[in-house]
Amino acid sequence: MSNLDRQAVPAVCGGRGFVVAEPVRELLTPRHVRLGESTEVRRLLPNLGRRMVGAWAFVDHYGPDDIADEPGMQVPPHPHMGLQTVSWLHEGEVLHRDSLGSLRTIRPRELGLMTSGRAISHSEESPRAHARFLHGAQLWVALPDAHRQVEPHFQHHTDLPTVSAPGLTATLILGELDGTASPGTTYTPLIGADLALAAGAQARLPLEPDFEYAVLSMSGRAEVDGVPVLPGSMLYLGCGRTELPLRADSDAGLMLLGGEPFEEELIMWWNFIGRSQEEIAQARADWATGDRFGTVHGYDGPPLPAPELPATPLKPRGRVR
Ligand code: MN
Repeated sequence: MSNLDRQAVPAVCGGRGFVVAEPVRELLTPRHVRLGESTEVRRLLPNLGRRMVGAWAFVDHYGPDDIADEPGMQVPPHPHMGLQTVSWLHEGEVLHRDSLGSLRTIRPRELGLMTSGRAISHSEESPRAHARFLHGAQLWVALPDAHRQVEPHFQHHTDLPTVSAPGLTATLILGELDGTASPGTTYTPLIGADLALAAGAQARLPLEPDFEYAVLSMSGRAEVDGVPVLPGSMLYLGCGRTELPLRADSDAGLMLLGGEPFEEELIMWWNFIGRSQEEIAQARADWATGDRFGTVHGYDGPPLPAPELPATPLKPRGRVR
């Protein structure tokens, strides 16, 4: 998915100053953002008080939406730089096309992982014949400086490993949990796991004390470390934890996101993550005129134009929020 916000506001993120070193329970409420005509998403990251969780820099939760008589998701070709996109579905399907020629239908609990490196473009749409409900999350992972120029590539993993405990099935989206690892390529130590909890389940997840974590609720009624987290909300947990207590009053779907605190300071604007105003401006210009981001073939419609750059210069900020 794309950041379709026409008033694209730059977000400065990364750096140790944003990280909470000890365990906390900070409930993040979403910002409602319209994507095109029919879709509204709940944006959890970047959030007013919290920009990143490990390398996770962008989290949108959408649906479940009844799209039986609608086109559903229609996100025209748009560019990315300096990040990976993660498509994660609980219901429905998304047809992914990109400038490398990839053409894949992503289905529930399959990983669509696109690594932009320095430049890629893609589109995402509900296929013409689609399931009635669409429900999922779109996430970005920031690439560290050492790897942000990698060759762009797209991975589609349809059979991800799981870890089970009574009442809990964890699917490894990225990274590793309890000795089980996702095949998705990562560039910083991080984890993304889908947690399916059965009604009445009580579980304790092993965590890395050096990671910072957050849990997004996608469905059902669950408590995370004693805090009820409603669908569309996310609980930031800080660092310094060795385990995480979970409880479900009904069947519930959560996402565990975490990683080593991201030390580098970033500028995130529209669909780009860079390190300077010049880089962002260059990427914007290249999308408008050049062939750096390639061409997406087969999407029925024109590509997305970039919004105007804000008049005030973008600068990575110091360590204080
Ligand atoms: Mn995108």
